[in-house]
Amino acid sequence: MQKIKSLAAVFLALFILAAIPTQALAAEAHVDAITAHTHQWYFDHYDTTYIPIDDETHLKTLYPVYKCSVSGCSAFDIRDGYESTPSHTMTSYSYTGSNYHAGNYHYIRYERHCVQCGHSTGYWDHYSCPGNGHCILPQSVFPVLTDK
Ligand SMILES: [Zn+2]
Ligand SMILES: [Zn+2]
Ligand SMILES: [Zn+2]
Repeated sequence: MQKIKSLAAVFLALFILAAIPTQALAAEAHVDAITAHTHQWYFDHYDTTYIPIDDETHLKTLYPVYKCSVSGCSAFDIRDGYESTPSHTMTSYSYTGSNYHAGNYHYIRYERHCVQCGHSTGYWDHYSCPGNGHCILPQSVFPVLTDK
């Protein structure tokens, strides 16, 4: 019985897979019948993606986006990307607002990040602090810098 059920699931999946392209093609044929033209592609702009790789670099991909120059047509075509691995563009370190007290010190978190891919690195700094409810709060000493 279990085997029959799973076979039925496979047939259902095959049926759905077969049905999707047919519907997509039908929709495309319908649109073509309305606009009835050969797209006139021209280069419009690059779409850019940034993916962090490690602490030094990120993967940058430029995708050329072409648009159709026929008036009333909003078709576009995203073509194969060009990849490169440039260095991060890091901001300067700024206080993040994260802090805690331990022993005789108060610890505060500094971070910087890449303006392209968002990759961040940071460290904890510390200063002498009495604690026990008498913390020297970092907000009063180190303003939280906001990114521009
Ligand atoms: Zn077109
Ligand atoms: Zn980066
Ligand atoms: Zn403290």
